[in-house]
Amino acid sequence: MNKKTSSLSKKILKINELLIQKYGIPYRPQNSPSPIDMLIATILSQNTNDRNSYKAFTNLKNNYNSWDEIAKLPVKKIESEIKIAGLGKQKSFTIKNLLNTLIKKNNEISLSYITEKNDEEIIHALTDFPGIGLKTASCVLLFSLKRNVCPVDTHVHRTSNRIGIAESNTPDKTYVLINNNLPENIAHSFHTNLIRLGREICKPANPLCGNCPLNKICKFKNKNYSSTGRNIEKNFMLLDNV
Ligand code: SF4
Repeated sequence: MNKKTSSLSKKILKINELLIQKYGIPYRPQNSPSPIDMLIATILSQNTNDRNSYKAFTNLKNNYNSWDEIAKLPVKKIESEIKIAGLGKQKSFTIKNLLNTLIKKNNEISLSYITEKNDEEIIHALTDFPGIGLKTASCVLLFSLKRNVCPVDTHVHRTSNRIGIAESNTPDKTYVLINNNLPENIAHSFHTNLIRLGREICKPANPLCGNCPLNKICKFKNKNYSSTGRNIEKNFMLLDNV
């Protein structure tokens, strides 16, 4: 499929423009975090809010000198350091296993070996680690390596299906549909602003359709105009603050 000419690409481009009109071009730090920092921050962000996962990440970064030091900690200690992010048992196991596997495999804790690979190869390499799925791996591609890849979390999945740019029952299928049709150089603004829309306006229950910049092009059958409550701004993005 030609990404530049498909009608889905054109629709994604239009949505991106409307979201930029509403929210502006999202903040993006000049210096990208290393892939290993980004991967661990994203593991911590699973099933919690950005403020709690940011706190868990800074607990690890501020209390220890290096990932090597953290690799030597008992898994229970890692679990207590990241408790605020929830799912401590699972996340501490994933982090400890990742760090120790890298030491065994490469004699160092670094993911620099993935940076020359193409997007697909990187996804394959990262999802080989237990506990790391497509969303987590694609966040490394977008936020650390600045590739034109749109990760699909629960907000991107829900809003994309409501708007009509995807028709799928899982975030991973939505990921394929969107990324096969993603125009060049828009992944960061499209992803970030769509998450913001999902948190503030296109909420899981009672979306605020009367306040939505995508109202005219959205195909959702059950639009809600009964509540036009104030939007609560939720624009702190963990992965742009690692
Ligand atoms: S119009 Fe309603 S359902 Fe459609 S994207 Fe906006 S808030 Fe979501």
